[in-house]
Amino acid sequence: EGPVRLNKFLARAGVASRREADAVIAAGRVTVGGAVVTEMGVKVSPGDRVAVDGRPVGPSDLVYVLLNKPTDTITTVTDDRGRPTVMDLVSLPEDQQSALFPVGRLDRQTTGALLLTTDGELAHRLMHPSYGAVKLYRVRLDAPISDADLEKLRRGVDLDDGPARADHATFIGRGGAGRSEIGLQLHEGRNRQVRRMVEALGRRVEALDRVGYAGLDLDGLRRGRWRRLEPHEVGRLR
Ligand code: URA
Repeated sequence: EGPVRLNKFLARAGVASRREADAVIAAGRVTVGGAVVTEMGVKVSPGDRVAVDGRPVGPSDLVYVLLNKPTDTITTVTDDRGRPTVMDLVSLPEDQQSALFPVGRLDRQTTGALLLTTDGELAHRLMHPSYGAVKLYRVRLDAPISDADLEKLRRGVDLDDGPARADHATFIGRGGAGRSEIGLQLHEGRNRQVRRMVEALGRRVEALDRVGYAGLDLDGLRRGRWRRLEPHEVGRLR
């Protein structure tokens, strides 16, 4: 491929979105071949040395995959009991596949957005409690709950490992039946957290679907399917 605009090059390298890259360039943080570039629209060729804040950047060989996890799959790299894992659903060139791992975990029966990557640094950060990647869940309960129950989820319920609260909690749908389906936004990711929060209300989770993770959603991605993230999506995660 020939020369590309510098902001596009930076976005592809995962530095930032293309728009954010313009700001990084304007701030004088980018050098090409050792010289600071602040003009917009400068083009760079594959051989050019590009650096941000003095650190070289370039096309990355790290891999980022978004999977729409189906039920009956285990979120692990290998299962010693031979059960189907999320890795079985993704098919990449061997060197990438062998370095891929899931970021965090969804229960076996939980469906929805799961990020897999070879980027250990990003994974570490997304899973760190203080970073708190935003997670959106759609939850079907075994029975309707009240407004007061929903409010309890917002204010916090007591779990064995400390109080847990939802950033947002809403009913999905209308009428009586709508009250047994809720949307939750969490930034924590403790083990079985949603299930345990619901159990604290005396209810059970019948179906749990993660519809959003760290700003990524499943638009158009069918259950059991995966796709590579676009460079600008990787840029936003970092
Ligand atoms: N909370 C749960 O209880 N299970 C999941 O899989 C994810 C969040």
